[in-house]
Amino acid sequence: MNAASTTGVGARDIVQAWGRILAGYRPNISIEITKECPLRCPGCYAYGDEHLGGGVTLRGLSDYKGDELVSRFMALIDRHKPLHVSIVGGEPLVRYRELGEILPQLAARGIHTQLVTSAVRPIPAEWANIPRLQLVVSIDGLQPEHDARRTPATYERILKHIAGQQMTVHCTITRQQVQREGYLEEFLRFWQGNEHTRLIWISFYTPQKGEISTERLTKADRTRVIAEMRRLQPLIPKLQLVDGMLKVFADPPQSPDECIFAQTTDCYSSDFEHRITPCQFGGNPDCSNCGCIASMGLEAIGRHRLKGGLPVGKVFNVSLKIGQAVARLRGSVSGAGSTADTSRA
Ligand code: SF4
Ligand code: SF4
Repeated sequence: MNAASTTGVGARDIVQAWGRILAGYRPNISIEITKECPLRCPGCYAYGDEHLGGGVTLRGLSDYKGDELVSRFMALIDRHKPLHVSIVGGEPLVRYRELGEILPQLAARGIHTQLVTSAVRPIPAEWANIPRLQLVVSIDGLQPEHDARRTPATYERILKHIAGQQMTVHCTITRQQVQREGYLEEFLRFWQGNEHTRLIWISFYTPQKGEISTERLTKADRTRVIAEMRRLQPLIPKLQLVDGMLKVFADPPQSPDECIFAQTTDCYSSDFEHRITPCQFGGNPDCSNCGCIASMGLEAIGRHRLKGGLPVGKVFNVSLKIGQAVARLRGSVSGAGSTADTSRA
């Protein structure tokens, strides 16, 4: 297994993505499909005051329902032509009826879709048959800690709602989970043993700059968790993790400009107009303490050296500059600006 497979990306996808970057487009898009969520998780960045750059919060933004949501969502997709779509919230399942139309349309366009949910309500059975759809269920620790953070999306409900699906468990490790030795292993073994688990992903809680919170890992926590993940990786076959990613967890990108994930992903909030910058966290994220699995996976690819010793990231940076020049040229020819700038619906 290599870093590319860890991020769910194959060699063909990488070549396609490179083509999109050279043409001045970003291959990934992340969309907050709704502002609604029945949960109130402590440390949730989506509802933070600075998530959308200050002045307005996600709950204060407009969002859409019904046919209007479906048509506006697909118009955004058709304008950006991404290879990969990440649907987040709020809680996407509050719009499960609309998603029942959107997800098959994305699959029909050959787009890989990742739907991130807390599984607070049943996942429609027919979604199990949609190609190129990855269901990612956020499960933050063992039952006592998870239920305390994520009620009403409790373990009991998740176990009921994932029946018939093959999901990716995504755990964001917070300080609360690293207080007891053996905790991470117990968590991983529990979900490794669940027949509905296809993969397990681990992220670390990513704070904002200057944030003081009970979620934030200390430097010592981080070092300890990385060593523990290195020990557990060969024992938990569903855990998608490679050595290159562990190195990035230990030494993340230092700024959004250095972050391949931030540079290749457009992020939109629930009115499909507001852009979330510099990455999906919004605000002023502390890159030096980043633990986002998507950033770790892409950065691991970027640090991989080609034959001759050239890091992939160097090729990426040159490609990005070429793509930006192409987008500027396209904008001056069409008078419409680059795709990355055409954020209005
Ligand atoms: S489920 Fe997600 S969007 Fe909702 S409060 Fe929790 S972290 Fe935030
Ligand atoms: S994903 Fe992480 S490293 Fe990348 S810009 Fe966001 S906080 Fe920084």
